[in-house]
Amino acid sequence: MAFTLHGIPVSRGIVIGRVHLLASAALEVPHYLVVLGTVEEEVARLDEAIATVVNELYQLQSALPADAPAEFAALVDLHRLILQDPLLSEEPVRLIRERRYNAEWALTTQLQAVVEQFEEMDDEYIASRRADVEQVVDRVLKVLTGSAHSLSLVAAEAELEADAARRDGKEIDLDPMIVIAHDISPADMLQFKKQVFAGFATDLGSLTAHTAILAKSFDIPAVVGLGQASRLLRQDECVIVDGDAGVLIVDPSPIVLDEYRLRKRDLELAHEKLKRLARMQTRTLDDQSIELYANIELPDDCAFADEVGAAGIGLFRTEFLFMTRDSMPDEDEQFEAYRRVVVAMTGRPVTIRTLDIGADKTPDAARLEFGSNVFNTTNPALGLRAIRFCLAEPQMFLIQLRAILRAAAFGPVKLLIPMIAHPQEVDAALVLIATAKGQLDARGVAYDRNLAVGGMIEIPAAALSLAMFAKRLDFFSIGTNDLIQYTLAIDRTDNAVAHLYDPLHPAILQLIAQTIATSTRLGIPVSVCGEMAGDPMLARLLLGLGLRQFSMHPAQLLAVKYEVLRSDIAACETLARKILAAGEPDRIRVLVDRLRAA
Ligand code: PEP
Ligand code: MG
Repeated sequence: MAFTLHGIPVSRGIVIGRVHLLASAALEVPHYLVVLGTVEEEVARLDEAIATVVNELYQLQSALPADAPAEFAALVDLHRLILQDPLLSEEPVRLIRERRYNAEWALTTQLQAVVEQFEEMDDEYIASRRADVEQVVDRVLKVLTGSAHSLSLVAAEAELEADAARRDGKEIDLDPMIVIAHDISPADMLQFKKQVFAGFATDLGSLTAHTAILAKSFDIPAVVGLGQASRLLRQDECVIVDGDAGVLIVDPSPIVLDEYRLRKRDLELAHEKLKRLARMQTRTLDDQSIELYANIELPDDCAFADEVGAAGIGLFRTEFLFMTRDSMPDEDEQFEAYRRVVVAMTGRPVTIRTLDIGADKTPDAARLEFGSNVFNTTNPALGLRAIRFCLAEPQMFLIQLRAILRAAAFGPVKLLIPMIAHPQEVDAALVLIATAKGQLDARGVAYDRNLAVGGMIEIPAAALSLAMFAKRLDFFSIGTNDLIQYTLAIDRTDNAVAHLYDPLHPAILQLIAQTIATSTRLGIPVSVCGEMAGDPMLARLLLGLGLRQFSMHPAQLLAVKYEVLRSDIAACETLARKILAAGEPDRIRVLVDRLRAA
């Protein structure tokens, strides 16, 4: 039966495909498509893992002491039988052969289907057997993990293969897969970076949580905050993700499907047209030059930034280099990652932000090294996050500072400090930068002696005392995501208050307007790198407030460029003034729409 779920649109576009339900436990195993030609090897890998566990169970049984309770032996028997049941031993093989899922993925997908069947049964005894099935699968997964391919290697192979197939004109014949999950952490999202999912939807989430921000960087349609999607949907069901309207249409009728196919085609045509803007200069109708930069999470994102003609990198969120790993990257590894970005951008400026760890971005590596207690405060977004954490761990910070300084020897780099609120934080960071330089001098290593240092204006206190920071720093970047969170007291990751997260609240507009005006008056370059900069609806408003540098995900850059190209600054300024004076969010919204349509 068809039905529609409404959520929050986070990444634009339409995709029609089939559901891939992702349980949070399943996120712990690698997901990739097996390379054509190695499918039977993958089946053998699964068969061997099952055989190993069956063997282990036999051994366990024979090693049981004679006086062991009879239930013990019966339980081991039961586990062996579960394992040999066609439901667990045959269905995953079909998933590997027909869908090319890797063995772990196939097994966890089937586990989920079995668990659902169990949940539907009234019989208490059967329902309690669910734990046995989970334990057995867990054993097999452990064996498989020991024999797993490297995730990134296999993903890379799959990509090469897909490229080769496209070149030969034979597209790989797989339906688009749409991930449906209760919630996905930013670290888990990174797993999908190279994967084959075409869209995603979650029960929880909000517009500017880092999970949503990552979805934008993948440029796949995404809707979050759907409430019950992961409970209501079935594996393989047909769904439409409408990332513009923020809806998920389940089991659509043929009429709705046709309608969406048409809309998808129109969007694709519009997208193709936008691509023609990539190499054009970014100038307004009255010939003012505007700089559009890209936000990136990982060095590989530079390719997309380059494709859309970004003026450089306006925000490199370096904390993502620290995710999905057990240990913190050392100086050389970080240097190599930063250098790759600098080299990839061929002379265009690269703004590298120092670690913004904490709140919803707390890598396992940091927990392991510094202890979970450090991050587990009641209000992590108000806790030891970003520069606060870096100053609390100066040795770790120095490693990153040295790596950035070294990378800056290969092209224009600027260093950006997140979450500043107090002048002494900036002073301490500058002292550490000087220390890092001294250490590099002592080692005789090349670096940029004149590295520009800027600060993120994302805490209201910083916006309201800008002159104090202007004395100390070379540039500012307004982080609207946190500025809104901290001004309106809205946890940006909490979908219960997501409806109150309002970029057009008069207080937010005043803070942004003041920050741009004061910076301009003081001659300090200022940009916006939060999600507001990537919203085409807001481009003219920001131009009217005096903004000339925008930084956003590459996926949004051409739509914003289109707005800039058809804007006249004087007209934008007039309406921006009215908007600032309007005072009421509803009135502001009307004026913003009018500004866009003008
Ligand atoms: C912001 O807060 O607007 C920002 C760009 O930083 P992040 O989203 O990484 O917190
Ligand atoms: Mg921020």
